[in-house]
Amino acid sequence: MAAVEPVTLRADEYRWSQASRCPRMAVYTRRGASAKTRTPREQALMHRGRMHGRFVADQFAAKYGPEQVLFEKQVHWPGGTLHTDVYVIPETAAFEVKSTTSPESLIGAAIIQNAGEQHFDETCDKGGVILVDPIDLSEQVRPVVLNDELIGRVEAIGAQLEHATRTGCLPDRVCAKPSDAIGNLCPFAATCFADLPTYTPPDPIIVAGEVARLAGELVGLDADVRAGEQAASTAKTVREEIRGELRDLIEPNLDYLAGGVRLKRSTFTKTTYSGIAAGIAAGHLDADRLEPYRNESEQERWTVTATEAFEPASEDYGDTPF
Ligand code: SF4
Repeated sequence: MAAVEPVTLRADEYRWSQASRCPRMAVYTRRGASAKTRTPREQALMHRGRMHGRFVADQFAAKYGPEQVLFEKQVHWPGGTLHTDVYVIPETAAFEVKSTTSPESLIGAAIIQNAGEQHFDETCDKGGVILVDPIDLSEQVRPVVLNDELIGRVEAIGAQLEHATRTGCLPDRVCAKPSDAIGNLCPFAATCFADLPTYTPPDPIIVAGEVARLAGELVGLDADVRAGEQAASTAKTVREEIRGELRDLIEPNLDYLAGGVRLKRSTFTKTTYSGIAAGIAAGHLDADRLEPYRNESEQERWTVTATEAFEPASEDYGDTPF
């Protein structure tokens, strides 16, 4: 693994948990910038996150003994002190615990956070992110391999903070617009975007004729598709119920003839690989070696919404042959 020059910051305190999501947020906190007060719901979510960190720590403690597990272990890093959610001494492993129903929305930042927890802790040589589903407390472990790419990204964050400390400048924004701050659990959206003019979307271009006719057809067809999808969804639910009943009545991998219906329930193991992007982000897969398998295609997204002024065309199909 290539040697990386350590970043040296002044003794300012930056929160690694924030810096790993957005260095600018960590700088605002350090400087006491004006922040939005957390809502009761946001406070409850943070409390829940801490509870689930403790929940995971207790599981490790049951396996290794309470004295072998550190909850919110303090680790010194160039920006101050960070806290590793769970550190398992016999495994020399650091874990970041996230309580979430939508892991993919936060896994990228969580991987960087854990990479820093591993990188700055001299006693640590492995780790990962543990995702706890708050609905049923099921857990997924995403191991994080500290490779050059991740170390580089951790050090780049440190370098941005060092630059902010030395020059008084702010790191770049990671959000494109104020509402993106919600996903980053950032209370500084108003401060961060105060110097930018308020974005006002341009007025729509008013058109009539063929475009209006086709748009009217499209909005009606979209509604038809949604209704069809709803019907298909209901049918699939009922189908699963009936399959569930049949599963108890027939043997797998045998042919049946039942009231004129051929019936067979085949069982087999299907192997799939998912989360390739997450595997690259967590250091398990080499993005360069996977490059020949990367596919890009042009995509488009349609927005077709009926306004109050929309008048659907009368559905006159004339003489239908059915
Ligand atoms: S609003 Fe976005 S870019 Fe600005 S500090 Fe917060 S997370 Fe960073």
